[in-house]
Parts: sequence; C-alpha cells; structure tokens
Amino acid sequence: MTPPPPRKPLIAGNWKLNKTIKEAIELVTLLKRLITDFQNVDVVVCPPFTALSDVSELLMESEIQLGAQDLYWEEKGAFTGEVSGALIKDAGAAFVIVGHSERRQFFHETHDTVQKKTKAALKNGLIPIVCIGETLKEREASKTFEVLEAQIKGAFTGFNKEEIQQITVAYEPVWAIGTGKVATPAQAEEAHAFVRGRMQKAFGEETAAALRILYGGSVKPDNTADLMREPDIDGALVGGASLEPNSFAEIVKNAGVAALR
Ligand code: PEP
Repeated sequence: MTPPPPRKPLIAGNWKLNKTIKEAIELVTLLKRLITDFQNVDVVVCPPFTALSDVSELLMESEIQLGAQDLYWEEKGAFTGEVSGALIKDAGAAFVIVGHSERRQFFHETHDTVQKKTKAALKNGLIPIVCIGETLKEREASKTFEVLEAQIKGAFTGFNKEEIQQITVAYEPVWAIGTGKVATPAQAEEAHAFVRGRMQKAFGEETAAALRILYGGSVKPDNTADLMREPDIDGALVGGASLEPNSFAEIVKNAGVAALR
C-alpha cells in the first residue's frame, strides 16, 4: 500500500461575529500583504456571511482561501434567516465551519444537526471543518474521550470513506476557546491521536492517516510551533488572534516552519 501524502497544515481564522464589510476588506488587504509563503501551509479566513462576497473578490488572485462559519442543511425554501451551502458556495467560499462549540452551546446544535450540516456542506462541494471538543467539566470528570467518541459518532454516522476524505476535523477543547488557557501540546496530541484512532477504526487506516485534524483554543504566535510539531496536529482553528493581522500572519509563518519537522 502506498503511504498517503503528508498532511499539509491548515490555519483557519474564525472571525466569529466581528468585522463590517469595510473592516473585513481592510483586514484581508493586510493579510494578503503579510502572508506570502504558502508552500508549507494552507490558509483560510472565515468572515461573517455579510462579508463573504466582498472578501471573495479580494481573494481572487490570492492563495488565501475563504470559509463561512456555519450553514443550514436545506437547499432553499421557507427557512427565514438561514443560509444554505449553495448560497455559501455562490458567495465564493470553499470551506465551512460546522458544529463550533459556540453553536452547540448558544444555538442548541446537536449531533444530528452537525451531521446534517456536514452532509450538506459536502453535497455543495464545500470542505466542512467539523468541530468537536469537551468542556472543562467533562475533562475534570475524565470524560474527554467519551465526549469525543460521541461527537465523532454523531457527526459521521452514515458517511463513507470518500466523504471523510473531503472533511477536516477541529479538536477544540471548550475550556481553551477564548480563555487564553491553551491545551499543552501533550494534552492536545493525546486528544488528536484518540480522534485519529477512532476515525481509523471507522474508516480505515489510509483515510485516517490522510485526515487533517486542527487544534483550536487560544492559539497565539508564541504557542503555535510547539503545538504544530506534535505528530497528529495538522493546523489550527484560530479565533481571537485571527482578527489581528500581524498575529495571524505570525501564526501562519510559525506553522509553516514547524511543518518542516
Ligand atoms: C475558535 O473560536 O474556534 C477559537 C479557537 O477561538 P480562540 O482562538 O479565540 O480561542
């Protein structure tokens, strides 16, 4: 069996509910100037829906790619306020974040909705970045693996190998998101290795070996390299630091250097 190609790290910026269209254009204009080396790292920015189209135009000639932060699973119809995969694709995005812990916590997303959204993303040719991760309470109760297992099962039941080959997973311990409390490289690696192991069991060795698993939770320029050097960490989903152009560019640079491990 030929070994799968090495996993190229991906750094994705989740802007959350931040940036007007004008501010988004300013930020991306700076990022285009600051990030120029894509040899060892892929880069995605995920602005709010309202800025997708303008940012897409700005990224026409750039290797920085575009993602949305969520989608709805229906294609069209009477679903006031929702945005489908087709509309996101039409706005120029190639990626979409699915099942972020803030969506699970504040908008009552369940295993079932995460699964439907992941399917809908694939159906529309979008790469879903599917988020999983335990809360502090769950970690302290030694339930991390149990929670991850349930989230993996919930998100990917009914998927085949070919579909899994199109997705990216983000392990984001909820206690590390926006708190400044980053998981240690060893803690993150332990979780990533567990996730890869479960994916291997469900979808086979080759699929699991090629799967990109990002870490998310207070990633900053000074902790990026240590995290990225871990064998099962293939990039990062970055919240707060992705709003600051120099920080995001530094994270991208440090991830690219660490990829040469
Ligand atoms: C996130 O929103 O996915 C995230 C990881 O946020 P932060 O980097 O701010 O912790």
